[in-house]
Amino acid sequence: LTSKLPAVGTTIFSQMSQLAAQQQAINLSQGFPDFAASDVLINRLAHYASHGYNQYAPMPGILPLREHIATLLQYCYGRSVCPQQEVTVTSGATEALLVAISAVVAAGDEVILFDPAYDSYAPAITLNGGKAVHIALQAPDYRVDWQQVAQAITARTKLIIVNSPHNPSGMVFSNADWQALQSLVVNHNLYCISDEVYEHMVFDAAPRHSANSFAELAQRSFIVSSFGKTFHVTGWKLGYCVAPAALSSEFRKIHQYVTFSSFTPAQYAIADMLAEHREQVLGLAAFYQQKRDSFAALLAASRFRLLPCQGTYFQLVDYSALSKLDDVAFCRWLTIEHKVAAIPLSVFYQTPPDSRIIRFCFAKQPATLQAAAEVLCKL
Ligand code: PMP
Ligand code: GLN
Repeated sequence: LTSKLPAVGTTIFSQMSQLAAQQQAINLSQGFPDFAASDVLINRLAHYASHGYNQYAPMPGILPLREHIATLLQYCYGRSVCPQQEVTVTSGATEALLVAISAVVAAGDEVILFDPAYDSYAPAITLNGGKAVHIALQAPDYRVDWQQVAQAITARTKLIIVNSPHNPSGMVFSNADWQALQSLVVNHNLYCISDEVYEHMVFDAAPRHSANSFAELAQRSFIVSSFGKTFHVTGWKLGYCVAPAALSSEFRKIHQYVTFSSFTPAQYAIADMLAEHREQVLGLAAFYQQKRDSFAALLAASRFRLLPCQGTYFQLVDYSALSKLDDVAFCRWLTIEHKVAAIPLSVFYQTPPDSRIIRFCFAKQPATLQAAAEVLCKL
């Protein structure tokens, strides 16, 4: 078989989590919580699964869930969306990203994305015959130079993919970033995919923006989010895509043949959470800010240098004071010799910069972070 993705291997997340398990290392690599989701949510899932909610959900998702998503968007960003026509429930953000990219990208189209980039974007572009145009963001703050983006736009550019709060850097777009993005998208008739899976994890009381907050941008955007992140259930693979009716209609044509619909009992359980426990969503920023701060305090005595983290549940650290190994070798060494697993940053770049930076996930119980920091402070 001729590979459609010759450059792709097993994802770094699978590789590092597997190595961590094999080495019985503390796993701060792949991004997922090591603590339980709320009892209410788990009980709701059990309730629906044991009361007959086990057949296909409607293709775009159950209506109550779509209605509660619309209510949340209204509350958070003041945007009014139609739950019937503009919200589609998906099997995780990963499915939504693949479907949105497939809906937009045709052979020969160019797609601008920012490195370090989440690993699923480029293969989805390639599968659709598109060409990923990578713009590199730099340490320590990973801000976008919009002038550079403007220069990268050609007659073939069809789409820009953005991700704020940004995995892996923790960078969060400012109001000016969103305005600049909106101008480029509108002036050049582009589409935008806004990956906002960490939307509720923005720290230091910074204003919360979203493509949803910018009316002209929203008219040309597929906005993607994930309940896995928001409710600490990454294994449920439940997310959604918000887009204007005409775009959602194209999105659904593909979604209906990728999965048709997503896991029914989880849709009902999450709908109840959005209806009755919105405070869990709104409290997420404070919850993770506390973890960011305690992890940073624990690492203060180490030789790792922490980079800024404005959002997400990831902390980048520079280890150049400790080792000359490249970041992939350093992560393997750290996992095998010291039993703490992390993710190397270079794997998120088309052209990796010459830096010594790795990513830790701090979505962990205090004891896990404490145990990891004890090791890291001795290096
Ligand atoms: N986008 C980004 C930036 C992510 O970090 C993740 C999760 N790791 C996803 C998309 C995929 O989300 P899901 O697990 O809901 O498919
Ligand atoms: N999004 C998670 C991360 O960045 C991993 C998801 C996955 O394993 N595909 O660590």
